[in-house]
Amino acid sequence: MPKVAKWLGNTLEGLFASKFPLMTVINTEYITPFVKKICFQGDVSGMDFQIGYAIIIRVSDTEYRNYTVSYSDTEKGVVEIIVHLHGEAPGSRFMHALTTGEQIRISAPRGMKQYNPSVRQHVIIGDETSLGLAYSFLDAVKYKQHDCHFYLELDEQNNTVPELLGLDNYTVFSKDGTFQNESSVASLPVFHLDTWQDSNFVLTGNARSIQTVKRVLKQKNFRGRVLAKAYWMEGKVGL
Ligand SMILES: Cc1cc2nc3c(=O)[nH]c(=O)nc-3n(C[C@H](O)[C@H](O)[C@H](O)COP(=O)(O)OP(=O)(O)OC[C@H]3O[C@@H](n4cnc5c(N)ncnc54)[C@H](O)[C@@H]3O)c2cc1C
Repeated sequence: MPKVAKWLGNTLEGLFASKFPLMTVINTEYITPFVKKICFQGDVSGMDFQIGYAIIIRVSDTEYRNYTVSYSDTEKGVVEIIVHLHGEAPGSRFMHALTTGEQIRISAPRGMKQYNPSVRQHVIIGDETSLGLAYSFLDAVKYKQHDCHFYLELDEQNNTVPELLGLDNYTVFSKDGTFQNESSVASLPVFHLDTWQDSNFVLTGNARSIQTVKRVLKQKNFRGRVLAKAYWMEGKVGL
C-alpha cells in the first residue's frame, strides 16, 4: 500500500487510531549523513515485535513506506528504526526532516519472522535498508551464542556503519555489482565453509541482488531455509 488518497488515509487513521499509536520522536542520530537512526516512544503495549517485522509510516499526505524495527522495548514504549537516506523521494525526505519532539503514527509491526532460534547459523545479506534488520539480530544471536555473518553491499560513505552499530562478523562489499553477479556471489567465503548448508539465509535489500543470491543458492543445491524479502527495486516506488 505505498499510496492512498489523502481523505482515505485520514479516515483510516481516525477509525483505527488504536492500531496506529501516536509516537513521539525521542532521539535521532545520523550514523553517517545517509544513515539515520530514529527512536520513537509511545504506547505500543500489546503489540507483537518479532525480528524482521516492519512498521508502516505515513511519509506524506498520500504515501506510506515500510521500515524494519531495529530495536523495541514494549514496556518502555520504545521503537527504533534505521533508515537509508538514499535521495529525493518521499520516505527519504520525510525521515531526513524528522526531529526530536515531533509526533507521528506508526502501524502495528507485521511481516516475516526472519530469525529462527533453533538454527545455529545465520547468514544475513543486504544493503543499507537491511541495517535495521541486521541490528535486530544482535541480541538474539549473542544470547543464544549462535553464529551470524553479515554480507552487506554499501555505498562507500556508509562503510563504517556496521562497526558503529556494533555488528561483528561482517563483510562489506561496494555497490559495483558484486551482488548482481552470480560468479562473484558464488565466491563469497560463506560457501567455502563446511557448515554453510546448515545456515538460514536471510536476504533483504535490493530486489535484483536478492534474485542473484537466490539463483546461486539454487545452483549450489542449498537445502536450508531461505528467507527473502525485497525491500526496494530500481524504478519502483515503495515496496
Ligand atoms: C518489509 C520492508 C522493510 C523495510 N525496512 C527498511 C529499513 O529498515 N530501512 C530502510 O531504509 N528501508 C527499508 N525498507 C525499504 C524502503 O521502504 C524503501 O527503500 C522505500 O522505497 C523508501 O521510500 P522512498 O519514498 O524513500 O523511495 P521511493 O519513492 O519508494 O522510491 C523512489 C526510487 O528510489 C529508489 N530507491 C528506493 N529505495 C532506495 C534505496 N534504499 N537505495 C537506493 N535507491 C532507492 C528506487 O529506484 C525507487 O524507484 C523496507 C522495505 C520493506 C518492504
